[in-house]
Amino acid sequence: MKQVIITICSCFLLCLSCNEKPSFIDFTYPDGKSKALVLSYDDGTIQDIELARLFYQNNLVGIFNLNSGYLGVTRGWPQTDGDTIFQKYVPKDSLLIIYKNHEIAVHGALHKNFTAIKNDEILEEVNTDLEVLTQLTSREIISMAYPFGNTNSSISKLIAKTGVINGRTVADTYKFDLPQNYMIWNPTCHDSKALDYLDAYLDLDKQELSLFYVWGHSWEFGDQNRWDNMVEF
Ligand SMILES: [Zn+2]
Repeated sequence: MKQVIITICSCFLLCLSCNEKPSFIDFTYPDGKSKALVLSYDDGTIQDIELARLFYQNNLVGIFNLNSGYLGVTRGWPQTDGDTIFQKYVPKDSLLIIYKNHEIAVHGALHKNFTAIKNDEILEEVNTDLEVLTQLTSREIISMAYPFGNTNSSISKLIAKTGVINGRTVADTYKFDLPQNYMIWNPTCHDSKALDYLDAYLDLDKQELSLFYVWGHSWEFGDQNRWDNMVEF
């Protein structure tokens, strides 16, 4: 697996403008490779620590999408069945340790649903993350995953003005194509289905650049079976 996939990196993303269809003349993958793996993980809960380590041990770079307003806190998320799930978020002072070898990205300061709030609130959510995450890491933050994966054309255009150059959704495509629009970037699949599509990607034989883009939440790996599958993947 390791020989045939490479991880996507920020320098590749920087080459792209958000609405242009990618082509060979826009960029290449390092070392003439044609396949890449994107691992995008949301929310910044403390289970990221183990997942980030797993990626590192396998020479993989992940993208971790953080909610800057929740860093260091424990928060209860009410469920539709009346239950409440409590999540612990990674501490502010440890971002450069936990995500040392990984990309840090925006996920909305308070994880608000962008399709249910006004434009100024959306900008507040994104700009706060950009400001806080930049300040805490001294890194340039250039990408994001939409909270709940929710976006639309006007929201993506609004956010493109903040300096964010790619916005990722959770609308699984089960395909390995590069996106047409990097501000509405749909993944291949959630990690619970990654093993199902792995062989198809390994067997894919074409010269054009392709991409296996997996997304998820590290807190879902409380299920041992799911964690074992991820390790296998
Ligand atoms: Zn989220």
